[in-house]
Amino acid sequence: MPVTHRLVPERPIRLTELPTRGQSFYPAGKEAAKAEFRALRKELAELQYRFYADGRFRLLIILQAMDAGGKDGTIRRVFQGVNPQGVRVTSFKVPSKEELAHDFLWRIHKAVPGNGMIGIFNRSHYEDVLVVRVHNLVPESVWRPRYEQINQFEKMLTETGTTILKFYLHISKEEQKQRFQERVDNPEKHWKFSHDDLKKRALWDAYMAAYEEALNRCTTPWAPWYVIPADQKWYRNLAIARVIVDTIKQLDPQFPPPEGDLSQVVIE
Ligand code: ADP
Repeated sequence: MPVTHRLVPERPIRLTELPTRGQSFYPAGKEAAKAEFRALRKELAELQYRFYADGRFRLLIILQAMDAGGKDGTIRRVFQGVNPQGVRVTSFKVPSKEELAHDFLWRIHKAVPGNGMIGIFNRSHYEDVLVVRVHNLVPESVWRPRYEQINQFEKMLTETGTTILKFYLHISKEEQKQRFQERVDNPEKHWKFSHDDLKKRALWDAYMAAYEEALNRCTTPWAPWYVIPADQKWYRNLAIARVIVDTIKQLDPQFPPPEGDLSQVVIE
């Protein structure tokens, strides 16, 4: 059973001091972790069925990472077997003209999950204090107030019935290099490679500074960040699945009661 890697507001972190490998948190090793993960995934599928039927709760899962950090793989692996009808994945790309003509939370708010739904954000409003900050897409006077605006937005969501889980998939610069190399070498992965990714890699330190500030400023009692060691996929999958399963368990979704006494129902 891995530790949660949940941040707390009182203890600011430095990303360079947080591990990117999970091995030491799971001494039993990869094969044992994979077995535990498979069992968890089954549990998640059962819980989500009940969560969907219950319809009282909303769960928002936010995934952020550097390129090749494993967001896509996490979604594919952790949610394998879950009923697609109850899950909606939204991938946030470079904003459209229409999106840019609104406040930065406009497109985000439209995508938050409704009752009984699990919403997964592949990137999120955090891009507006990450890529936007690192590449100077707007002046600091615009992006700096966003930390507080994000906190207030997330507070409103949790106060109105949404549970929020935020995962930063923490990979090392060396691991990113290896994953990029694999994308260059393997024809089936060419589609994943973008020259733009290399420009961002060159700004690694500026990204780390931006992530660090976002994680520290936007870890709140209502919506904490989890910094997941993500160099080893088996650990990343296990740690994230564990947090999600525990969170849904705590909500304790129930099948709604039947409409009246079904023992009297006669189906002709
Ligand atoms: P991904 O890398 O997530 O698989 P893409 O390769 O299509 O998907 O990249 C999406 C791009 O959109 C990323 O470079 C990301 O930084 C960018 N992006 C997302 N949100 C914003 C935003 N609010 N402002 C500027 N760029 C953004």
